[in-house]
Amino acid sequence: MKIEVLTLFPEMFAALDSSLMGKAKENGIYELNCHNIRDYSTDKHKKCDDTPFGGGAGMVMTPQPIHDCISSVDPEHKSLRIFMSPRGKRLEQKIVRELSEQNNILILCGHYEGVDQRIIDMDIDMELSIGDYVLSGGELPAMVLIDSILRYVPNVLGNSQSTADESFSDSLLEYPQYTRPQDFNGLTVPEVLISGNHKNIERWRKEQSLMITKTNRPDLLEKK
Ligand code: SAH
Repeated sequence: MKIEVLTLFPEMFAALDSSLMGKAKENGIYELNCHNIRDYSTDKHKKCDDTPFGGGAGMVMTPQPIHDCISSVDPEHKSLRIFMSPRGKRLEQKIVRELSEQNNILILCGHYEGVDQRIIDMDIDMELSIGDYVLSGGELPAMVLIDSILRYVPNVLGNSQSTADESFSDSLLEYPQYTRPQDFNGLTVPEVLISGNHKNIERWRKEQSLMITKTNRPDLLEKK
């Protein structure tokens, strides 16, 4: 998978060089290219934002540098072009799974009050939000998207079972997990997990999943 990121702050993406995502990049499972939108500005001061027409607070990212950057990075529109935006469709596991099958993804990160609407109309295929709250830039949302997608790309997670069993995989949240020691400060692991009886373990986990989902996310059960 090849991911192109368009941002005013490419240095933020160093966060993806650690842990599983870092390993996946090292192993050539995916390629991440960060492009600095500012490099494409034809303004003599490399300006990339301006005040909004119609008035109002904040600055809006100007269309010229973004359009030129997109046209240079993806001249034949081979990538699925995503703009991270609180106005977008809300990201959920189903979309993540579908996106993990793409070969080429381009992600545009907004900043300030966002980008000129004409960029969205002209150059963008899909707007995605990571949740109903507003962040100061699209960089963290882009990293959330990249991490969530890559977990579904083969050989990124150590154990291919990991995505099959976890929260949201069947509209339920995951059951509680325990590891060694069996007794930690007097708190012990549920008996069933050390019983060796796999049928009972499976039943216990299903019950726990249902209970946790009912308490924390009843909306998921309704959906199911
Ligand atoms: N004025 C805009 C918010 C701009 S926030 C509005 O009210 O809709 C600046 C940038 O941060 C956005 O352009 C977007 O790229 C990013 N961003 C902020 N919150 C986000 C979210 N929940 N999901 C995805 N991107 C987000």
